[in-house]
Amino acid sequence: MRNKQNDLYFNMFIDIHTHNTTDDDNVLAIINLKCHEPFPTKEGLYSVGIHPWDVSEHSQTELFSLCPHLPNKQIVAIGEIGLDKISDSDWTLQNAVFETQIKMANAVQKPIIIHCVKAYNELLGFKGLMETPAIIHGFRGKPQLMKSLCNAGFYFSYGQKFNEETLKETPADRLFLETDDANTTIQTIYQQVAEAKRCEVSFLEQMIETNFRKIIQQR
Ligand SMILES: [Zn+2]
Repeated sequence: MRNKQNDLYFNMFIDIHTHNTTDDDNVLAIINLKCHEPFPTKEGLYSVGIHPWDVSEHSQTELFSLCPHLPNKQIVAIGEIGLDKISDSDWTLQNAVFETQIKMANAVQKPIIIHCVKAYNELLGFKGLMETPAIIHGFRGKPQLMKSLCNAGFYFSYGQKFNEETLKETPADRLFLETDDANTTIQTIYQQVAEAKRCEVSFLEQMIETNFRKIIQQR
């Protein structure tokens, strides 16, 4: 059994955002927890936060109770958090809860994992407030949108469905991969992305591990 908390995970497949647990020793995953879920005692890396679909008038209280847990080393990111214009959640509340969580991430200096649907202008408006790296997960936008977000400093995570052109143009130093809630393995995603990018899986492994170390480790 490899110790995933230490720096002994060369050549591992990194799943930057998933809702599933895995027992695969070759996979290093950031498992997403909902704010009210009990904190697992199991070894592993986690992200925690309030999804824009789940915002309510209780969100700020929930976040207040979450604060003391955020310095925990197993929580490596705040997420998934963000903005979703298609969701029924109150828009004003979404913005307020997103802002609070960005500030919480700033306070503990941990990156954020973003869910964004049809709200990229608004997301760009929040960028100035973000003091830690921000990964847009499940990105499916067109190349032009990726470029403006890239210029603003965002990172991108690609899952089962992606725009092939966008993926090809995404700089390697801004790239992550994920399974999210898909019924697939992260190895399959690496394979699909390697084919689309016409590169070796081992190249992706190297790049993503470098990115991971740069923004997730040692915070
Ligand atoms: Zn997700």
